[in-house]
Amino acid sequence: MTIKSGRHFLQIPGPSNVPDRILHAIAHPTIDHRGPTFQKLSKEVLLGLRRIFKTSNPVFIFPTSGTGGWEASLMNTLNPGDKILMFETGHFATLWHNMAKKFGLEVDFVPTDWRHGADPQIVENKLREDKNHLIKSVNIVHNETSTGVTSRIAEIRNAIDRANHPALFMVDTISSLGSMDYRHKEWKVDVSIGCSQKGLMLPPGLGFNAVSKKALEVSRNNTLTTHFWNWNDMLKANETFLYPSTPCTNLLFGLQESIKMLEEEGLDNVFARHDRFGEGTRLAVRGWGLEVLCEEPLEYSSVLTAVMMPGGKGADNLRNVILEKMNMSLGNGLGKVTDKVFRIGHLGDLNDLTLIGTLAGVEMGLELAGVRHTKGGVAAAMEYLIGSLK
Ligand SMILES: *Cc1c(COP(=O)(O)O)cnc(C)c1O
Repeated sequence: MTIKSGRHFLQIPGPSNVPDRILHAIAHPTIDHRGPTFQKLSKEVLLGLRRIFKTSNPVFIFPTSGTGGWEASLMNTLNPGDKILMFETGHFATLWHNMAKKFGLEVDFVPTDWRHGADPQIVENKLREDKNHLIKSVNIVHNETSTGVTSRIAEIRNAIDRANHPALFMVDTISSLGSMDYRHKEWKVDVSIGCSQKGLMLPPGLGFNAVSKKALEVSRNNTLTTHFWNWNDMLKANETFLYPSTPCTNLLFGLQESIKMLEEEGLDNVFARHDRFGEGTRLAVRGWGLEVLCEEPLEYSSVLTAVMMPGGKGADNLRNVILEKMNMSLGNGLGKVTDKVFRIGHLGDLNDLTLIGTLAGVEMGLELAGVRHTKGGVAAAMEYLIGSLK
């Protein structure tokens, strides 16, 4: 085994780097998950998460990854044969769609070119055409982590309202929560799905559902539900800040610290920091003469940037070279864009120098892997960061 000095650069768009403060918080003796110390911790994180999702209604915490959060959202609100509207914005939207189909839901899956978000106008048209209100939910991925494209959730909410349609609105905020502006209540989202290992800077292991009153009401009459994901069992146990089964006690200590860190910095400052990193990264990409996958400036992700390879291939080789020579992990192309793009994660616990180090690693890798590019991407990013610090 070769010894690698210094820190590994984990610049994939989740799991993101876990800061020392959170690692130390997790390194805590495991406590009784029904005792008073636990109840105090649990109360703090359950109420804290409401502030992160920007809701005054319950947020449920499951021991799971983001996928489990998806499953809980569907299981609690829909019935087999129900019609739902989804958009193929990328790989994660496709996986959520595949899950819905497995559960016997009838999905209208609107295609996109993977370079744009869900189109609010199409949402409005589809709902207006649905005179008998057969569509039971509209399910959108906010930040499509496979493409670096965000969908405009506030505009989609307005489209649903203009069509005057009662469908539930479900949003995957798995990779945007804690990194990009997200407003569960204001955008009248019925179910928001999040998880621990992206913007919240925790290891994988926690999945969240923020729910509206309307979604809870619906959940009392649906038939898809299973035991483990049942919101109403969770709601009852959460009344005394307990859980129906053993929660991830130590990760909850980490979550408490994560919420503290986000609030110390201030959510708006956290979002602005990510916006700067997104802009700096896109300037670097253009400085290299390469192209960002996302085509719509209003839909740029501040969490990650997917970069198109010249000639449409070789992304995996480039990533391998960068891992081997520079000890940095970048995100791979997923699904339809496998080997065609690589993804630079710029979310969570990072600062200007982490970003510049990351971009320098990419620029060095492009040279080492013999990828056609121009120099000066890092310089362009530095110039922008300097300008925004003055
Ligand atoms: C990571 C991610 C998921 C899947 O989460 P897992 O934790 O891998 O189950 C779903 N949606 C989006 C947008 C993601 O980024």
